Amino acid sequence: MHKKHNFGAGPCILPSSVMEQAAQAVINWGGMGLSILEVSHRSPEFEDVVLKTQLLVRELLSVPDHYSVLFLQGGASTQFAMVPMNFLNAGKKAAYLDTGYFAQKAIKEARLFGEVEIVASSKDKDYAYIPVEFNNDKKAVYLHCTSNNTIEGTEIFDFSTADAPLICDMSSDIFSRKIDVNDFDLIYAGAQKNMGPAGMTLVIAKNEFLNQAKKEIPSMMDYRVFRDNMSMYNTPPVFSIYVAMLNLLWLKDQGGVSGIEERNIEKARLLYAEIDRNSLFYGTADVAHRSRMNVTFLAVNKDVEAEFLKFAADQGIVGIKGYRTVGGFRASLYNALPLSSVEVLVNAMASFEKAYSD
Ligand code: PLP
Repeated sequence: MHKKHNFGAGPCILPSSVMEQAAQAVINWGGMGLSILEVSHRSPEFEDVVLKTQLLVRELLSVPDHYSVLFLQGGASTQFAMVPMNFLNAGKKAAYLDTGYFAQKAIKEARLFGEVEIVASSKDKDYAYIPVEFNNDKKAVYLHCTSNNTIEGTEIFDFSTADAPLICDMSSDIFSRKIDVNDFDLIYAGAQKNMGPAGMTLVIAKNEFLNQAKKEIPSMMDYRVFRDNMSMYNTPPVFSIYVAMLNLLWLKDQGGVSGIEERNIEKARLLYAEIDRNSLFYGTADVAHRSRMNVTFLAVNKDVEAEFLKFAADQGIVGIKGYRTVGGFRASLYNALPLSSVEVLVNAMASFEKAYSD
């Protein structure tokens, strides 16, 4: 199956065993003589899948009982609008941390609904760090942050300083490390990094907070409608939910979130150590805020970038070209990427340095 070392940032990398089970389910699901793609989402078999997936989310992230687990559609980008549509009432203010490209997109959407205050921004240094000091306004209806900045390669490791209800876009690091759900009033994440195929969006929200949502909003944008209909107000993304269930079962087998976190720490440590050692490359993010999921780095001499991409590709390494705004390289180390792939990349960097200096 996975012959390439895939460091791509998306849409989704999954363990081979999950891909194989998913492929089989497309042909004949559980020996039923039906594909998972054609079975009714109202069937007891599929309702069981939704329930099991919700329970796995609860178990893996220790979600307290007074929180709801919802499966929505429209990706994290729809959440950028759905959050303020539900909670940013006229005359109220929402606070946003501006930590990069996706935070800015969230801010743009929120401004359509009410007053937005950017309480801190790292734009002054091209988003290479996480601002830790900010105007912590208790009067804001919520404070919005992005736990992992997929493009800029920075990650928030401490959520304890928020005074307003905290809403977090965890699209690119959910299930990669332990979190305390109690720190947040609402978490959302597009599935397609560590959870499953694109098409579903995970929302974990405190019920008490959901009850404060505005009353007059379209049903498809109302969290409570999904909560009250077991995430099946309309036809859900059946295949994405099913594959997410398989993937979360795989994660459980890996020792759960704490087991995978240990491996993710080791993968990131190995790669950052090589970036810091290798004379041809340097990291772009401040050391204290370096992301464990998306490692961004540049070549000291821009001219070698294309050469290194080719050198790496010859060794089966794909997906390391940096995003256009940052340039250079970005190696995404999502859960399904094995340590052995990071070793291949690190060795390639070292051999490239040797070949370059000979
Ligand atoms: N937020 C973050 C942190 C992301 O990494 C992404 C996509 O990569 C998005 C939001 C947008 O997600 P979607 O494509 O599901 O709308």
